[in-house]
Amino acid sequence: MRHNSLLCSLLILAGIMLATQLANAEITHYVRYESDGASHYGVVDGDVIHTLTGPPWSGGVRSGASLKRQEARLLAPAEPRKVFAIGFNYMSHRGDRELPPHPPVFLKLPTAIVGPGAEIIFPAGADDVHYEGELVIVIGKTASRISAAEAPAHVFGVTAGNDVSARSFQAGDLQWFRAKASDTFGPIGPVIATGLDQTDLLLQTRLNGEVMQQQRTSDHIHDIYAIVSHISQYATLQPGDVIFTGTPGTTSAMKPGDTVEIELEGVGVLKNVIGRPADTD
Ligand code: MG
Repeated sequence: MRHNSLLCSLLILAGIMLATQLANAEITHYVRYESDGASHYGVVDGDVIHTLTGPPWSGGVRSGASLKRQEARLLAPAEPRKVFAIGFNYMSHRGDRELPPHPPVFLKLPTAIVGPGAEIIFPAGADDVHYEGELVIVIGKTASRISAAEAPAHVFGVTAGNDVSARSFQAGDLQWFRAKASDTFGPIGPVIATGLDQTDLLLQTRLNGEVMQQQRTSDHIHDIYAIVSHISQYATLQPGDVIFTGTPGTTSAMKPGDTVEIELEGVGVLKNVIGRPADTD
């Protein structure tokens, strides 16, 4: 009995220490921005962006240059070589669908990635194009066949993303290439945050200011470390690669002129506008 209560006390103490460590973790925001026709990585310090010599996950350090945040046009905060996405990762979105026990993975393309403020353009023939607000993982270290326990060391940080989805293509195509990977169908940003408790963040989607989706990432069916581990069994994850982790609740169609905002706690607001469709140019 005494042994059990000692064990119990030690577990409580360990829990308090872990919570304190998380609360004390320093949160840092990283960006990529365009200035004088060139793109740079940077680290945010209040109203100032300090330029980095390269991507922060590849040893980029402060170059000594800096600029005001308002003077920088923010770009997608990563330039992934691969873009993965998980479907049906919240019960509120999955409903009663029967799915295998592993994370259901599909692919988007690096050319789909755009940054905050970029226009989302519907390709010719796309109809019923929905927002999907999601947490997006950014890989920091090469990961091949790693366990979930090893995954935290391979994740650099998280950002917000919109897994734009053309439902008209999704229903009938062999794969979701046109539906999910068309140009501009992968906005991410505005920053990559490190030091957050990535497994429990509030995610919210607003369409023209109205809240359409709202749920915490603690409700993920497959948590981000299980996802990273699973993908790494089949494909080597490389620094800068990104993984969309699934959308909660229900989604609805956007139309040209609409403003869509994905807000992730600790990261900020990813805002994009729907531009004129490609077939009306
Ligand atoms: Mg999605």
